[in-house]
Amino acid sequence: AIKRRGGDGVELPTMIAMADVSERLRLEADLRLALDRGEFELHYQPKFSLAGGTPELIGSEALLRWNHPERGLIPPAAFISVAEETGLIVPIGDWVLREALAAVKRWNAAADDAGPRPSVAVNLSFKQFDRPDFFEFVRDTLQEAKVDARLLELELTESIVMRNADSTVDVLRRLRALGVRLSIDDFGTGYSSLNLLKRLPVQCLKIDRSFMRDVTVSDEDAAIATAILGLAHTLGLEVVAEGVETEAQLLFLRARNCDAVQGYLLGRPMPETTFRSALDEAARRAGPRGADPGPAI
Ligand code: C2E
Ligand code: MG
Ligand code: MG
Ligand code: MG
Repeated sequence: AIKRRGGDGVELPTMIAMADVSERLRLEADLRLALDRGEFELHYQPKFSLAGGTPELIGSEALLRWNHPERGLIPPAAFISVAEETGLIVPIGDWVLREALAAVKRWNAAADDAGPRPSVAVNLSFKQFDRPDFFEFVRDTLQEAKVDARLLELELTESIVMRNADSTVDVLRRLRALGVRLSIDDFGTGYSSLNLLKRLPVQCLKIDRSFMRDVTVSDEDAAIATAILGLAHTLGLEVVAEGVETEAQLLFLRARNCDAVQGYLLGRPMPETTFRSALDEAARRAGPRGADPGPAI
């Protein structure tokens, strides 16, 4: 096995690097206190179905934020990897799941059974799959929150699945049997084989934002996005496109039967109260129930 060095500062001679190390240690120490101090919060980015004439709000993705007492709102990219290295991502991930389920419970408390039921998607770290009781944890947390498993979606990355394919597939099968929805996040950036994709009990692929950016100007990106959509649909999977920022991207996706989208064009990640207003607004626009029966299924 390859032994990695570094992390102790010995190989980092410059003052700048020393500053990075002390900065990192401070981050780590702060991170350890953050959970106890209640400094984490979830923002919710709306997700829209393209099945109908106009995009329809169907749920959200929960995105972690750290409200640091001195530095303000810190995005996950700035602390997730440290949280993973220190193992803190496990208790943080537990908190995220509980919090997201409490939120989805609130959103669905008022909805009647016939109406739309907004779901919540939660991002997972590979570290959470290292715990042997991950399945039981999700099952028990759903039970405690009294949330229908079908309202929860778990987002995995290709690397999580590749890391320990057999045991991960087993855990995913059991989650799936509960009714939890599973998706592969950032699809196209990892190394998952088509063979593995076939074996995975996932329902959805999320096309990575990096392919969306130039999709309307780059032939290569257009070809990749088109191929992912074709592949996914052939395998019976849904596709969500991430990072949709323009009408032109939306048109491109619509023309290729993309199932759902997320992106700044239709909605940024937002605090829960704002997201609930968006849900109320969407319900209002849909009009009184019965006025528009919608397409027959
Ligand atoms: P992700 O799961 O792929 O989430 C999508 C990221 O793209 C989010 O960044 C979101 O704010 C951003 N985004 C959405 N639409 C657009 C757009 O139209 N344009 C642009 N430029 N960006 C857009 P965010 O919130 O900073 O999260 C970054 C990553 O951190 C996430 O990527 C996910 O991998 C990770 N993450 C977030 N929350 C959690 C969590 O609770 N647990 C774990 N393990 N990872 C998390
Ligand atoms: Mg995600
Ligand atoms: Mg993603
Ligand atoms: Mg991403």
